[in-house]
Amino acid sequence: MKLPKSIKIGAHKIKIEFPYEFENEDKSKHQLGNSNFTLSRIRIAKFNCDGEEMPASMIWATFIHELFHMIDAISGHQLFLDGSRKSELIVGTFSEIILQILVDNKYIKLES
Ligand SMILES: [Zn+2]
Repeated sequence: MKLPKSIKIGAHKIKIEFPYEFENEDKSKHQLGNSNFTLSRIRIAKFNCDGEEMPASMIWATFIHELFHMIDAISGHQLFLDGSRKSELIVGTFSEIILQILVDNKYIKLES
């Protein structure tokens, strides 16, 4: 399972840190991804809160999810930066649909 080392969004080069190990004692708040525009950085975990390797589909979904947050920040709209449940549901829904489109059209191959 590989992700790009960096990705360009508009004029911005965004560094991708994968696999990234988030440190959080509280499993219920375990992060799988993080997007930070001011640092031009996206971090994606490889392991879930139980230390198990996540399937490629989860990693790709998380990556696309964080891309949405980055695009939202870069555009200046900041529609999904409030961390609200509604924002996360919208980002999550579009991330899953885009992942399915990319997989179905063979732009992303998920290992079995
Ligand atoms: Zn999110």
